[in-house]
Amino acid sequence: MVSLLAKIPLLAQETGTTELVKKVAQEIAEVGQHTAETVGYHAATTSIFVWGSYLVAAALFVLSLKWLSHPKSSRHGVLAGEIGMALAVIGTLLMYDVVSYTWVLVGVAIGTAIGAPMAIWMPMTAVPQRTALSHAFGALAAALVGAAHYYETPSMDSFSMVVLVIEVLLGTLTFTGSLVAFGKLQELIPSSIKGIPHHNLINLGLLAGAIAMGCWLVIAPGHWVAFLMLIILGLAFGLFLVIPIGGADMPTVISLLNSYAGLSASMMGFVLDNYLLIIAGALDGSSGLILSIIMCKAMNRSFTNVLFGRMETNLIANADDVYGGKVKSATAEDVAMILDGVQRVIVVPGYGLAVAQAQHTVRELATLLEAEGVTVEYAIHPVAGRMPGHMNVLLAEADVPYDQLKELDEINPTFAQCDVAIVIGANDVVNPLANTDPTSPIAGMPILKVSDARTVVVIKRSLSPGFAGIPNPLFAQDNCLMLFGDGKQALVELVAAVKAQ
Ligand code: NDP
Repeated sequence: MVSLLAKIPLLAQETGTTELVKKVAQEIAEVGQHTAETVGYHAATTSIFVWGSYLVAAALFVLSLKWLSHPKSSRHGVLAGEIGMALAVIGTLLMYDVVSYTWVLVGVAIGTAIGAPMAIWMPMTAVPQRTALSHAFGALAAALVGAAHYYETPSMDSFSMVVLVIEVLLGTLTFTGSLVAFGKLQELIPSSIKGIPHHNLINLGLLAGAIAMGCWLVIAPGHWVAFLMLIILGLAFGLFLVIPIGGADMPTVISLLNSYAGLSASMMGFVLDNYLLIIAGALDGSSGLILSIIMCKAMNRSFTNVLFGRMETNLIANADDVYGGKVKSATAEDVAMILDGVQRVIVVPGYGLAVAQAQHTVRELATLLEAEGVTVEYAIHPVAGRMPGHMNVLLAEADVPYDQLKELDEINPTFAQCDVAIVIGANDVVNPLANTDPTSPIAGMPILKVSDARTVVVIKRSLSPGFAGIPNPLFAQDNCLMLFGDGKQALVELVAAVKAQ
């Protein structure tokens, strides 16, 4: 059973879903028979249920990740993950070494009291902050479990101590790092705070100190001073690691912290001898790392640069110089006239579309245009919005067909064959400064080349900057018209104007 648990990710990859399900069922039956023969019927039933739920949960976690990788199957992915987690929790609660259910219930009550309101009332635009908070709590839990284990068993073999040290270090640094990420995204920590000079040296010192404490604990277990120092150094390291990282890199950092929290949980699995925790943590850790690397590529950022942060010395272009007298505004009626008789329109959604909740109205506009024979497509930038896949989720809500969503590499060469690009609440992802200003915070990030379109219409409320805080020369280009207003309201007016033609 144990060896099958460990092999689940590999089996899913090699044999596919059906074979994996068969193998899991067969293994549960065999273990059940063996346990019933050796320890009796009652113990065997519990044991089968616990191990069976672990096996099924592990398989569901793997399938969940597989299904989440495509918008079409992503709902199944979420469901599989939820069922897997429910099975994992139930299986764990049935284990013989749970000594008191009272404290478990207290934990469940507190967790539900915090988690449920967050899930219900936090807007989707605040998901990155919410995710950062979840990582902070998860990592704190891992670090606390590690500390409790050390309190109970200060002397342990070298392997267990190495694993415990890694668990506590990753848990503590992820806790403070995630809180700083939350503070920055929620604008509780002013973006002017960028850390202190020589922060990389300080970070290396803190990490070296934590590793030294870990070595001390491995060589001579049972030293509370070393353990406390490990915790303090881990907390300080997380703080200094994330503070200097600029806003534009924050999505990648959150994904990386997710990876650290997962690895910490995986180490906790070794400490507690819980195979499901090892698998779930490893899946979380590796998928978080892969996502961070994908996001770095999408933003053309060096992974090490994000990892070690950097003091921002960017000379932000002056908005007056960029826009001064060059911006042209249009009304909904003007834009409706431009749309009359066009053949191909590309919609570029951004964070503002999510804020305005204008996804259904943009679909209505697209349906109107399609009825006139216009080809409508949606250009999806990998970091548009405030979380990976944000635009896909938003447009899926409005039942936009998946085949109309085009990724950056696919759509960019085709903007030149597009009559009108309608940019709705997007800013950084269409900012040409990424290509022209090497000092800008988004320097090198691939952008959607909307300016290649014959006409660009930008719908936003003002000339305010986006997440990166820089002006956008696109708005002052000759072929660009600004339709100022709230995304939804402007689209409602545009739909009415198109209908009236
Ligand atoms: P931006 O943040 O660059 O710009 C959003 C624009 O939306 C703003 O300029 C704002 O202008 C406009 N806006 C806000 N509310 C409304 C509204 N109600 N109606 C119309 N417009 C509105 O968004 P992008 O999607 O272009 O870029 C995403 C940025 O976020 C990138 O810098 C990325 O690195 C970063 N990021 C991405 C994450 C991810 O994983 N996707 C996570 C965290 C950050 P105005 O106020 O004038 O209306």
